[in-house]
Amino acid sequence: MVLKTILAAGACKIARRVLHLTGRGGTTVPGRIAMAIDRDVLTASARGMHIVLVTGTNGKTTTSRMIEKGLSLAGEACLLNRSGANLLPGITAEMACNLSRMGKPRADWAVVECDEGALHLVTARIKPDVIIVTNLFRDQLDRYGEVMHTREEIREGIRLSPESLLCLNADCPLTATAAEGLSNPVLYYGLDVPAGEQGERELSDARYCMSCGGELVYDAYTYAHLGAWRCPSCGRRRPRPDVAVIELPESQGSRTFHVTMRLGEQEHKARVGLPAIYNLYNALAAVCVGKALGMPEKPFLDAVASAEAAFGRMESFTVGKCEIQVILVKNPAGCSQAMAYIAGTDRAYGVAFCLNDKIADGTDISWIWDADTEKIVCDSKRRSLWAAGTRAEDMQLRLKYAGAREDEIHLERDYGRLLEDMANKEERVFILPNYTAMLEIRQVLAKKTGGEAFWKG
Ligand SMILES: [Zn+2]
Repeated sequence: MVLKTILAAGACKIARRVLHLTGRGGTTVPGRIAMAIDRDVLTASARGMHIVLVTGTNGKTTTSRMIEKGLSLAGEACLLNRSGANLLPGITAEMACNLSRMGKPRADWAVVECDEGALHLVTARIKPDVIIVTNLFRDQLDRYGEVMHTREEIREGIRLSPESLLCLNADCPLTATAAEGLSNPVLYYGLDVPAGEQGERELSDARYCMSCGGELVYDAYTYAHLGAWRCPSCGRRRPRPDVAVIELPESQGSRTFHVTMRLGEQEHKARVGLPAIYNLYNALAAVCVGKALGMPEKPFLDAVASAEAAFGRMESFTVGKCEIQVILVKNPAGCSQAMAYIAGTDRAYGVAFCLNDKIADGTDISWIWDADTEKIVCDSKRRSLWAAGTRAEDMQLRLKYAGAREDEIHLERDYGRLLEDMANKEERVFILPNYTAMLEIRQVLAKKTGGEAFWKG
C-alpha cells in the first residue's frame, strides 16, 4: 500500500468525522478530499476485496441491503455504502474509510450501490465480482437524458469490467438485453407467474424491441414494462430466468410474501419480508447474487425473509394517534407501484405527496403527470389529501386533474404543521416524498418521535 493512499484514507476519515460532528450527513466532500490526495485511492482501497455492485433505476438500496445481510449471514465481513452516497465520491469515501491505519481492508466484501450514470466511472477503477442491474425506467430526465442514454451508460460500465458476472432482470426488456454483444457471463432472474392486472400497461418505457425496433408483445406482465416480453418480428424474447418466482399465492399478507422460488432446477419455499411486487424483484436479485457467487442459498433466503424497510422506503411511524408509512417515490413507475400498493390496502387512508425540485431530485418534476395518481384519488377508501414541498402547487394541480376537488387538497409548505395535521387523523396516512423531501420530513419526524438519529453509518 503506497503512503499516498494511507494519507488519503486518513484525511477522508477525518473529514467524515468533522462533518458527522457538525451534524451533516450524506456529503461528497470526504471522497473528493481523498481523490485529491490520491487519484487512485478507490482502486487501491478495493485491492483484494470481493465486490458486488448494484445499479439500475429502482430497488438499488433495498437490494443492496438484502445482499449485505445475506453475505453477513454467510459469515463474511461486509461493508455497504449507506445513506444514498452512490456516486463516485461517496463510493470512494466508503471504500477508503474501510482501510485500517496500515492500509489493509477491514471488511473483505463490499456491496456497492451505484448510480446508473456513475457506473462507468466506478468500473473504470474497480472490477466487481458481480454486477446487478435491477431495472431501467425513466428517472430524473434532466440529469441523465432518456432511458436509452442511461442504458448506453450502463453498457459502457459493463464493458469496462468484462470479467464481472452479471445478474440481470429478465422481465425488463431494456435490462435483459443490456449486455448483448458483451462477453460477460450472465444470470437472469424474474417472475415466472403474472402478477399484474390485464390492461394495466399504461406506462411504457420499452415499447419497442432493442434489436429490430419491432413492437414488443407481452404474454404476461407484472408492472410497467416488466413481464414476459417477446418480439414477433425478430424472435428476441425474455430469457428463461436462472432464479425465478414460480408460485405466488393470490391471497398474501399486507406485510410479507410467501412464494415458491426456483433456483436453477431446485424449488424452495421462500418468504419475502417486504410488501409490494417490486420487492419480489429485489429479493430475486439478492438470491441470484448468492447463486452467482456459488454460495449456499440459505443465508440469502434468510436475508430476504428478514428484510426490513430501507431508509425512507416503506418505513412506519406513529405520530399522535396516526399511523404513518413513508414510501420514497422518484419516477412514474415507482410512484404508480406505490399507489397500487396503497390502493390495495384494506382500510381508509390519507395520502401526502411531498414534491421538491432540488438538484438531487432532478429539477424536472413533469413525471408526476405520468404516474397513475387517479388510482388513489378515485379510490373509495381514500380520505385526506395533502400536497407539500417546494412544488406543492404542481402536485395540487396534478391531483385536481386526477379528479380531486379543490377543497379536498390541503396545501402545506411546512412539514411540522403537516405532521401536526396528520396527528389528529383516525385513518392511516401514507407520505410519498421524493428524495430531498424525504430527508426533510425525516428530520421533522425524528424530532417528533424522540429524536432517534437516522443518519446511520
Ligand atoms: Zn425484434
